[in-house]
Amino acid sequence: MRLILLGPPGAGKGTQAARLVAKYGIVQLSTGDMLRAAVSAGTPLGVQAKEIMNRGDLVPDRLVIDLIDQRIDAPDAAPGFILDGFPRTVAQAEALDALLEKKNMRLDAVVELVIDESELLSRVENRVRETLRAGGAARADDNPESLKIRLEAYRKQTAPVSAYYACKGALKQVDGMEPIETVGQAIDRAIAA
Ligand code: AMP
Repeated sequence: MRLILLGPPGAGKGTQAARLVAKYGIVQLSTGDMLRAAVSAGTPLGVQAKEIMNRGDLVPDRLVIDLIDQRIDAPDAAPGFILDGFPRTVAQAEALDALLEKKNMRLDAVVELVIDESELLSRVENRVRETLRAGGAARADDNPESLKIRLEAYRKQTAPVSAYYACKGALKQVDGMEPIETVGQAIDRAIAA
């Protein structure tokens, strides 16, 4: 099972991906998580990405394409994967098509979580509160200024990715405003359709 989860910051991609991991025994490949790990480890990639991420802009396509190219070859991704936060530009979507073809792999579904924009700020604020309550540290880009830029990047660079998959007849849209369980069931139906 190979899936893409699309949706703006705060749409619930991470939450739904975790559920799909448990249900299908596949791995969640989040470019955001991979980049944050690189930033924490202080690798050359992390050093390059840190300021861009903190601001809320997208890192250059080539960096994330290379990350995904290598990561999907790992043994734990053999049963399948959910791409969360990738592709985020049409150039990334085209590169993904090319590398899946090269590896002889096919996507099973592209699912977009559709959310009212007015809801997103409060969802991200909620995520920060819950992370802090659990004793964790808030993400450096979970603040109103960075979120504004992240939403702008989403509108300009990532929204066209939905159109890209819609043109191919691969896009399934799910109402992400419903409760978590209902959204999960709608995703299951979209995947099975
Ligand atoms: P996320 O955890 O998916 O919200 O990603 C956090 C940040 O990592 C984004 O705001 C970008 O700066 C960077 N990032 C993650 N995935 C990508 C991607 N596919 N393309 C470019 N930048 C990305």
